[in-house]
Amino acid sequence: MRIRKGDKVQVISGLAKGTVSRVSSVDKEANKVVVEGVHTVTKHIRPNKQNPQGGRLQIDKPIDMSNVMVVCESCGQASRMGARVLEDGTKERYCKKCGAGNGQISKAKKA
Ligand SMILES: [Zn+2]
Repeated sequence: MRIRKGDKVQVISGLAKGTVSRVSSVDKEANKVVVEGVHTVTKHIRPNKQNPQGGRLQIDKPIDMSNVMVVCESCGQASRMGARVLEDGTKERYCKKCGAGNGQISKAKKA
């Protein structure tokens, strides 16, 4: 899976199925991503110095990476992403549906 912070993704399973939103953080080790507005929980906080009234805080919890698909920047469809190496040695992600590049994975190799 090649998901990075800032990617547009579609949720493909669970309660938020079909939702398209941005990835706000990625935990590679745990294979989890936090998607804006998805799996939001409300945390109730007691009154403290910062928040004298107490109240509720909305927090997005991580979901499993396998539950989201990257949305192609070019064709706009939730798509599988492949990786390819360009002539100059740059590695990039590409959409398996339309073939358009969707961001660089690694820089060009020095000759
Ligand atoms: Zn595409």
